[in-house]
Amino acid sequence: MRAFEYARPTSVDDAVRLVAERPDAGFIAGGTDLLNLMKDGARAHDRLIDVNALPLADVVERDGVVRIGALARMREVAEHPAVRRAAPVVSEALLNSASPQVRNMAAIGGNLLQRTRCGYFRDAGSPCNKRVPGSGCPALEGQNRAHAILGVSDQCIAVHPSDLAVSLLAVDATVLTQGPEGARRIPMGEFHVVPGATPDRENALEHGELIVGVEIPITPMAATSRYLKLRDRATFEFAVVAVAAALEMNGNVVRDVRLTFGGVATKPWRSPEAEAALRGRPLTGDTIAAAGQALVRGAVTREHNAFKADLVQRALDGHLRDLGGVQ
Ligand code: SF4
Repeated sequence: MRAFEYARPTSVDDAVRLVAERPDAGFIAGGTDLLNLMKDGARAHDRLIDVNALPLADVVERDGVVRIGALARMREVAEHPAVRRAAPVVSEALLNSASPQVRNMAAIGGNLLQRTRCGYFRDAGSPCNKRVPGSGCPALEGQNRAHAILGVSDQCIAVHPSDLAVSLLAVDATVLTQGPEGARRIPMGEFHVVPGATPDRENALEHGELIVGVEIPITPMAATSRYLKLRDRATFEFAVVAVAAALEMNGNVVRDVRLTFGGVATKPWRSPEAEAALRGRPLTGDTIAAAGQALVRGAVTREHNAFKADLVQRALDGHLRDLGGVQ
């Protein structure tokens, strides 16, 4: 592991300045992903700014939102009564993430910035366009069972790994940041980006910009939201397919719906097409099937991950039937 400077400032302004002034500097909070990447040689920093002394760990409900500090730990947020009441999907996504040890340690801001689990990305000896731009993507023709079928490019097909991000997208959350240019509010739908020709860029943050919190608006629909995660083993495992759904019904007709997906896309994936197939229609096996077909219409599958196109439709079907009480 490369040697690095370390500092633990007590103000957000100092933390931002210490990273912004050095191109290879970075923030560290829980460190549950970053330290592994640094030990594996998949990521290098010459300065780490520990943000754990910053006053960013509170979870507060006020003025129609639940505001979660970026340093709140996954377990605290999952168990917080305001989060469970306003957005059960967020609590469920967190409880289905990682292991109890990691949930005690990992911070909310870092969770949104965790890197893909693509094995080629984490192996410093492999080419990888995300780690070394222009070096190639062995996953295109190689081991791609865990890889994405939506939002892919010919440069990268890596899945975004965060369950939390998928759940926050389903409830229209906003990411709050502080950077060298000041404060920003970034809608979750604009925070993560697809790889395109620049797979090394994964989100809207500028260098030195720090996530300081996340805001969840309190709405009737978010209060109905639920998370379903399918994975290869029952714990400490990433999603093969995940569905976050929020549903507002008028009798048996869908008044409004929000559908987001994990495990199948290069970023937390919302499907307006699938939502449109349900909105204003009765919730039935047929309309749910139409939503599933709309979801995967643009999917690009590869040798080992084609099963995901079918699995995600089955997951959507089961999840919406449970949520809407459809037999
Ligand atoms: Fe790298 Fe993306 Fe290809 Fe994985 S899928 S090897 S992360 S470029």
